[in-house]
Amino acid sequence: TTDRTADAILLEDEHAAHNYHPLPVVVASGEGAWVTDVEGRRYLDCLAAYSAVNFGHGNPQLVEAAREQLGRITLTSRAFHNDRLGPFVTELAALCGKDMVLPMNTGAEAVESAVKVARAWGYRVKGVADDAANIVVMAGNFHGRTTTIISFSDDPDARDDFGPYTPGFRAVPYGDAAAVAAAIDENTVAVLVEPIQGEAGIVVPPADFLPSLRALCTERRVLLIADEIQSGLGRVGATFACDLVGVVPDLYLLGKALGGGIVPVSAVVGDREVLGVLRPGEHGSTFGGNPLAASVGLEVVRMLASGRPQERARELGAHLQSRLSALVGHGVVEVRGAGLWAGVDIDPALATGREVCEALMRRGVLAKDTHGSTIRLAPPIVVEQADLDWAVDQLADVLEEL
Ligand code: PLP
Repeated sequence: TTDRTADAILLEDEHAAHNYHPLPVVVASGEGAWVTDVEGRRYLDCLAAYSAVNFGHGNPQLVEAAREQLGRITLTSRAFHNDRLGPFVTELAALCGKDMVLPMNTGAEAVESAVKVARAWGYRVKGVADDAANIVVMAGNFHGRTTTIISFSDDPDARDDFGPYTPGFRAVPYGDAAAVAAAIDENTVAVLVEPIQGEAGIVVPPADFLPSLRALCTERRVLLIADEIQSGLGRVGATFACDLVGVVPDLYLLGKALGGGIVPVSAVVGDREVLGVLRPGEHGSTFGGNPLAASVGLEVVRMLASGRPQERARELGAHLQSRLSALVGHGVVEVRGAGLWAGVDIDPALATGREVCEALMRRGVLAKDTHGSTIRLAPPIVVEQADLDWAVDQLADVLEEL
């Protein structure tokens, strides 16, 4: 690291809270799957901002939608109507095969909103006794950082010293439909699940898990809420990870890529019988549904409606998974994934995920570790296959040098 990088890091460290431990690279610009740091060095971005940049940095179609809207109006609040929200929610609902959209900003807000909607649905529609609602969640989950959400996390880093915790959640092992069945009682309003657990290390459940949850939720009159904030919108080679197993949840939670990597845009999407429980004044957000967000979100939805990003992620993903599988036994213990999304478990005897990511960074590949020895690969879907191959070559070389 030279002075420029060191100075930039020092400045940030001095006055930004230390709630992250970034790799020592200071990004200054980006285009497509590539970013450039303050020294002028280029890196292949294999994280894509945790899948928020699925369509690439500076995606021309999305930047143009934002630029055009910047020149018109960016914020009205929902005290008034704006002319972009209607088209956005109409086309997003259609993409999801649902009736209604509740627009928010961050992923955690979408999750919080769904918790409120599910509880209100429980009391007003299902007939659950006052304040008795419970929601079944999964061990190893990651749904965000708010006080209620961390209340049902089992990660000590996310939880410890942030109590008292919000009651009303019960955790069961991920992938265990029988445990979900046992946890459901007459006061259960929802089962909240990541169709593939992202932060846990790209954990893909048994193929019959989500279909079993779907059947169970229908039978017991419980809402199935799929948190597709990281898995959805093209990443897995389908619009939703639920599509891979033919499951339609009652509520989709979307975020990250919905804002095209430009603005924070999230949403809860569902049918009128569920989202329709919200009445004026019961929920809201100053920025939720703003015209800039809606313009970018609409363009994202239109890209996905073409099916092209999903197809590209499917094809490149199959290639990536096969290349990564070949590393098993060569410093890699296991590879998991779907589409252009992979969790690579490094042999913990050789290196931590962090050490591998630092070595990759020195070779021009940006990736992020998660939980000890796992690294996650999730490049923008616009990545070229030759670049993807080059990144896997770098990983192979790093592993060889360990
Ligand atoms: N849900 C899932 C599955 C996520 O992966 C994340 C973020 O990583 C969130 C929710 C929270 O999103 P945000 O950081 O935008 O609040």
